[in-house]
Amino acid sequence: MERVISSEQSNYDDNFEQSLRPQRLQQYIGQETVKDNLSIFIEAAKGRSESLDHVLLYGPPGLGKTTLAAVIANEMGVNVKMTSGPAIERPGDLAAVVSSLEPGDVLFIDEIHRLNRSIEEVLYPAMEDFCLDIVVGKGPSAKSIRLDLPPFTLIGATTRAGSLSAPLRDRFGVPLRLEYYGVEPLKEIVIRSATLFEVEIDEAAAVEIARRSRGTPRIANRLLRRVRDYAQVRGDGSITMGISKEALEMLQVDSHGLDHIDHKLIRSMIERFTGGPVGIDTIAASIGEESVTIEDVYEPYLLQIGFIQRTPRGRIATRLAYDHFGYAVPEGRT
Ligand code: ADP
Repeated sequence: MERVISSEQSNYDDNFEQSLRPQRLQQYIGQETVKDNLSIFIEAAKGRSESLDHVLLYGPPGLGKTTLAAVIANEMGVNVKMTSGPAIERPGDLAAVVSSLEPGDVLFIDEIHRLNRSIEEVLYPAMEDFCLDIVVGKGPSAKSIRLDLPPFTLIGATTRAGSLSAPLRDRFGVPLRLEYYGVEPLKEIVIRSATLFEVEIDEAAAVEIARRSRGTPRIANRLLRRVRDYAQVRGDGSITMGISKEALEMLQVDSHGLDHIDHKLIRSMIERFTGGPVGIDTIAASIGEESVTIEDVYEPYLLQIGFIQRTPRGRIATRLAYDHFGYAVPEGRT
């Protein structure tokens, strides 16, 4: 079964997310530091009639990187072309997108850490000197041609800044890290989306959905959608605190936004490994998941809320986790 609280985008989310995307910086909720920085750089670039420096957005999935790239383009008054690291397989693919850009346009490359190295090499001069050196033909008749490009802004997005090669990372003038959202901004996002759906929602109900959204707007919007269905079928259509609690219980999303997989993971750490330290591979084997899935998908939020700690000897389930799952806290546990 698909996880309702997965922060990865599913096909199911696609159209619906488009309709909820804020267009302007002012409608983009939360991430105040990022917005403050960006609004200065945008105003300065516009004042000089230049393209904006290349921007690197990094942070977990669902926090609004794609949305922000489109917002930046809107604020600059330019077009945005969207692609992703895995979609650019050959230098020619890159040449095709960049050569279609108008002066000042934004090129958004999602999952930029997945670009292969040969493409990266072609990207460097494009980013630095706005030109492309590409090789055409094969063998003795192969020759390199240089294409001049209009000045453009590359916005790269990644969930793993650490996987980016240093030369690529260094070519972004504006690296910005998106943080998990607090309950307050998530509540505002839920209320904004409910307004766009033309559904009534109590503030308390919005807070309840926000609290269970793992700090992630994508999850908040998805939970809202499921709660809206529940309200329509079991209630009169408006979302009250009672309705949202019932719906979220039915979806098996607990008060911290944890679901059965998180439960299985933490319970296994506590019951089988006395709360750790235990290695990631051992945990993975014990619950039948891949280690990378645990590291990339399940663990970041559990680390963020302090239920798990990373130590050189492995992961530890913390006192907070013991309490939340109703286990007696062993002596000396932090
Ligand atoms: P990412 O690219 O980081 O995976 P997206 O930009 O696709 O995330 O955002 C997922 C959804 O969350 C979008 O549909 C958007 O409507 C919503 N969203 C993200 N950030 C915000 C925000 N700051 N304010 C309002 N809605 C947001």
